[in-house]
Amino acid sequence: MKVFKFGGASVKDAEGIRNVASIIRQYAHSPLLVVVSAMDKTTNALEELANLATCSQKAEALAQLERIRRFHYGIVEQLFADQAGEVQVSLSVYLTELEQIVQGILLLRDFPDRVYDRIMAYGELLSSVTLQRYLQYLGIATQWIDSRNTIATDAQYKSANVLWAQTQENIRQQVAPWVRHAVVVTQGFIGRTAEGHTTTLGREGSDFTASIYAHCLDAEAVSIWKDVPGVMNADPKKFPDAVILSRLSYEQAVEMTFYGASVIHPKTIKPLRNKQIPLHVKCFLDAQAPGTTISAFAEHEVDRLPTTLVKKQQALIHIRPQDFSFMDEKMMRRVFNITSSLALQINLIQSTAISLTLCVDHKDGPLKEAVSKLEENFSVQATPGLALKTILNCDITKLHAPTDAILVQRDGGNIFMVIAA
Ligand code: ASP
Ligand code: MG
Repeated sequence: MKVFKFGGASVKDAEGIRNVASIIRQYAHSPLLVVVSAMDKTTNALEELANLATCSQKAEALAQLERIRRFHYGIVEQLFADQAGEVQVSLSVYLTELEQIVQGILLLRDFPDRVYDRIMAYGELLSSVTLQRYLQYLGIATQWIDSRNTIATDAQYKSANVLWAQTQENIRQQVAPWVRHAVVVTQGFIGRTAEGHTTTLGREGSDFTASIYAHCLDAEAVSIWKDVPGVMNADPKKFPDAVILSRLSYEQAVEMTFYGASVIHPKTIKPLRNKQIPLHVKCFLDAQAPGTTISAFAEHEVDRLPTTLVKKQQALIHIRPQDFSFMDEKMMRRVFNITSSLALQINLIQSTAISLTLCVDHKDGPLKEAVSKLEENFSVQATPGLALKTILNCDITKLHAPTDAILVQRDGGNIFMVIAA
């Protein structure tokens, strides 16, 4: 069986959904599970809705909810002709629940992360029902599955961790029996705790959902359908001569997503790599184009072109022992105990006799807390507003690091530069 994932851009309007349905139809003769994201920017719209409710802006919150409703109903009207009313009734169940949650926030003036995740889930619930009903309308046999019943997670809201054994069991029982008989349509991004609370896997997490289903169902392949022609060796908006990398190893793909290739969610690769399931990155605007395949290729089979990646929202932390001691292993251990306890992601490290410099993800909470904890024992200087530029497989004899780079490192043919954002 195959797993397809369609992101928000592919189902951004009625035309998009028709196109997605026509791709699914071409593959519906063999077992297929489809993971879909919220339509267009619905997740951002839901975030905005939650913020308005939290700030007690009742009229604005209800107006935002109305916009979300109209957007979905409008698409349904264009897709279903005489059956639109019936499909709108199915969606209205979710929209009513959403309104009740919003009223609850307005009343209690309380907005825990648990409620954030409940709200965010409606984007995928609305899109998956719409897509499943449309496929059914076209006469394609389908089965809708609620990922909250299958993807079991812990209670780390906003970026929950998957409980694999339970998830595997749920998928085996609830999904595997369907895949031979119907196209299974389900939501990306969402799951549920053992206590029954809805969770999300982190923004852009639907790619990861596709990979979880593929892993648990021993899929033959996963295809992520994007608006770009595949994984490219640079951002084509900034580098017009960027080209598609047609074959990548799992290791290359992991490295690329780590250093900022936003084309695939970083957590997607590992579950596929562990079962040797190939991942295709394909373009929904040109379904026949080959795109990129990520698989267990041998070294001589992969594309190793110079590849430029930029990871934004970085900060540098420069750390020195206060009493002019060496930055030895004991000192380093103190530093890393603090960063790891705060889950501050380190992307680059440089040490000298008396200092340690870390390039970290700039996430407000953990960064501030890390700096203040480090300051108890060290002299610390934090510089936010930076980016980490990485060039993989470059010909270093031709490369000149820009003179304004704040920090430069080389590892074989890979070069890493911290630059102003
Ligand atoms: N809809 C969610 C988001 O926008 C998840 C996804 O699209 O992958 O973050
Ligand atoms: Mg998305």
